[in-house]
Amino acid sequence: MKLKLAKWWETQSNRKILCTLCPRYCTIGEGQKGFCFIRENIEGKLYSTGYGRPTGFAVDPIEKKPLSHFLPGSEILSFGTAGCNLGCKFCQNWTMSKSKIDEVNSLHASPEEVVNLAKKNGVPSIAYTYNDPTIFGEYVIDISKLAREENIKSVMVTAGYIDKEARKDVYKFIDAANVDLKAFTETFYHKLTFSHLNEVLDTLVWLKNETDVWIEITTLLIPGENDTPEEIKQLTNWIVENLGPNVPLHFTAFHPTFKMRGHSHTPPKTLDMARKIALKEGINYCYTGNVHDIDGQTTYCPNCKEPLIIRDWHSVLNNKIVEGKCHSCGEEIAGVF
Ligand code: SF4
Repeated sequence: MKLKLAKWWETQSNRKILCTLCPRYCTIGEGQKGFCFIRENIEGKLYSTGYGRPTGFAVDPIEKKPLSHFLPGSEILSFGTAGCNLGCKFCQNWTMSKSKIDEVNSLHASPEEVVNLAKKNGVPSIAYTYNDPTIFGEYVIDISKLAREENIKSVMVTAGYIDKEARKDVYKFIDAANVDLKAFTETFYHKLTFSHLNEVLDTLVWLKNETDVWIEITTLLIPGENDTPEEIKQLTNWIVENLGPNVPLHFTAFHPTFKMRGHSHTPPKTLDMARKIALKEGINYCYTGNVHDIDGQTTYCPNCKEPLIIRDWHSVLNNKIVEGKCHSCGEEIAGVF
């Protein structure tokens, strides 16, 4: 496949390029790559070298993304590429996200081939995931456009660190997104992710107010870094006030890895504490993740409290939602069912 000319860049002096895809706004000299490794200045033009180069495909339960209110119990074709535009010291996928394209076993797959693979596997959706799909936005657009023509849905699993103009293009054919809200302090974002909180909050508000994309949020709780009751209360209050009570929130457990191997695993009781705070503060749907916790992973009717979708880890054990409503009291359940 021919190298793909990138979108979202401007020429500067000395054949340098300003990449305007994400708020990092890298200035990239000729022959160099941006922070994310997969956008390269070749002879004064920016190329998307991750285009058509997935690191592999998997068919996952959609609950693994995690999405609990978007086609629950279905499977989703999932892939990512090398590279990432964040620098999370706790990255749970760092072998991919911190690889340059030639260091990982990247495949070649055209957008048509990706959509055909989804059809062949009989799955109703495709996930752009594992690393942050923002950085291969051109590939996302071409696949999601084709997928929509085939009635296959597209899901972004992202940190939401994307430029205001570029996001209008990248999300044009996207149906759902799980956005990480990694913490609720700028100190955490700055120190542990090399990005900024406000840009992520801005993306969440934009997705909610200006698009039809179904959104869910994930917060990985890291002991001693973002797990105080006060911070969890602030985070959940912000969600209720700015996005409403019906955006599902997932608190997931951290495993020591990459540059944070000295930290301990998240105790299940921390996840439980966070979930209880979120529910008390008005979030209607809150889940725990990366642990076995049937209560914390079950969808309850916010009106009559009936258990509706009973889950264990990524498995749906029972689904009693009927035409998007609680089977018991008829309350509408937010989501795409
Ligand atoms: S997308 Fe990559 S190259 Fe572009 S600004 Fe962000 S990190 Fe830099």
